[in-house]
Amino acid sequence: MEEKKVRVRFAPSPTGGLHLGGVRTVLYNYLFARQHQGTFIVRIEDTDQTRFVDGAEQYIFDCLEWCGMVPDESPVHGGAFGPYRQSERKADYRQYAEKLVKDGHAYYAFDTPEELEKMRNDFKTAENPSPQYDGHTRMQMKNSLTLEPTEVESLLAAGTRHVIRIKMPSDETISFTDMIHEEVSFESGLVDDKVLLKADGMPTYHLAVVVDDHAMQITHAFRGEEWLSSAPVHILLWKYLFGIEHMPKWAHLPLIMGPGGKLSKRDGAKYGFPVFAMNWTDPKTNELTEGFKERGFLPEAFINLLAVLGWNDGSEQELFSLEELVEKFSLERVHKAGAKFDFEKAKWFNHEWIKKLPVSRYSNTVKSILAADGINITDEVYLNKVLELVKDRCSLLTDFTQQSAYFFRAPETLDEAAVKPKWNEDKADFFSVFIDRLAAIREWEFSEIENQFKLLAAEKNIKPGELQLPMRIMLVGGKFGPAVFEIAAIIGKEETIARIRKALIIFNA
Ligand code: GLU
Repeated sequence: MEEKKVRVRFAPSPTGGLHLGGVRTVLYNYLFARQHQGTFIVRIEDTDQTRFVDGAEQYIFDCLEWCGMVPDESPVHGGAFGPYRQSERKADYRQYAEKLVKDGHAYYAFDTPEELEKMRNDFKTAENPSPQYDGHTRMQMKNSLTLEPTEVESLLAAGTRHVIRIKMPSDETISFTDMIHEEVSFESGLVDDKVLLKADGMPTYHLAVVVDDHAMQITHAFRGEEWLSSAPVHILLWKYLFGIEHMPKWAHLPLIMGPGGKLSKRDGAKYGFPVFAMNWTDPKTNELTEGFKERGFLPEAFINLLAVLGWNDGSEQELFSLEELVEKFSLERVHKAGAKFDFEKAKWFNHEWIKKLPVSRYSNTVKSILAADGINITDEVYLNKVLELVKDRCSLLTDFTQQSAYFFRAPETLDEAAVKPKWNEDKADFFSVFIDRLAAIREWEFSEIENQFKLLAAEKNIKPGELQLPMRIMLVGGKFGPAVFEIAAIIGKEETIARIRKALIIFNA
């Protein structure tokens, strides 16, 4: 049989920020598609109109673009299998739901919220504290299985609010082979009669995912492990509607855990889990949330750390570019157990990528980070020189503010406590003479500045080591940064002399 062309999809609901788990799902989809010269589709699952957030769809596409994973088909990128927004496919779903009713696999249910509540109370027992709408209860409820056909007709004709539910078989073992979990089976009798079509005519996820995966000819579906328990419903729908042989292969991806177990909302706030800040207030936390991008992560690092959260290539290698991942990724090496997210490790990845990439790759981002701090860059060549010099000291792009600001403006405060206890007249004398020596240098270069410094120290009989820290504080303001003569070489002669002069006044006071 001819192999089908690989078609995979990411199916986000536009209801909030895009988080770690979601992006990892996109990544595995994307890698799999690229690896098999397949098609990567983004389908927007916007059938839950109560949870709709304006701007969330655009936000998803912006995040994907930032990560470097551009879809082949989507509501924005087009394609031959549209519409790619579920809300625009509404009419299709009802047809399929009606077909299921006609074939005896689903039924109309007219129960009001009060009647559902009453069922949950009436059937509650010690063994079964939260009874469901299922094989045990459905025959006591108000639906097309219990009512006379004529009554059902007239309720429908009168436009009575109703949903369509799947009728789960009472004793079928439903099995399938998951690409990660291997053989999985479920007892149909334990699964409730899930709603397929809601009262507003919109499908639930269960119906929509099957209808759409079929319509879009999806061959492999990657989704979070939280969906594994609903897989039996989807398998039955495939069987009833399209034939099980057409069902995509499933991969249920393990959850991402926080340092203390499941990722909590607090972890999210602390570590900036969404990819980007959202430009709306998160209804759950009532806060504008910061994301990885704003925290100063590079997309290269973000993709890399996500890829290895739950996968490895079997070697010691930890750094992978997107191209390398396309080449090396394999589903067989995706772990079954949940992966642990560690923010310190995430920063390590970013640090490695800051060092690895040419500074021109992120200099524009750093430029805007510096601008937010009032430093406006006009000389790009100078900026790149500075970034090259300090990049080894930065884990996050935002670290460049502290690590490079003093190359653009004199420090506002000096760490006097680091200098004053050991400051004396000899040192004061050294620096005032040093200013003249610096002024006389013709070739303003690192080695010459260092040379003059050492010569004068020897003349004055002071250990150069004792003078280096004061010099650093004079130029930088604090005890950090690369070699001090290197800094002097970059900021220039006039600026070096001016900073030493100004600091001398403070230290001598
Ligand atoms: N809308 C579902 C979600 O956001 C999609 C799951 C799937 O990929 O089928 O989790």
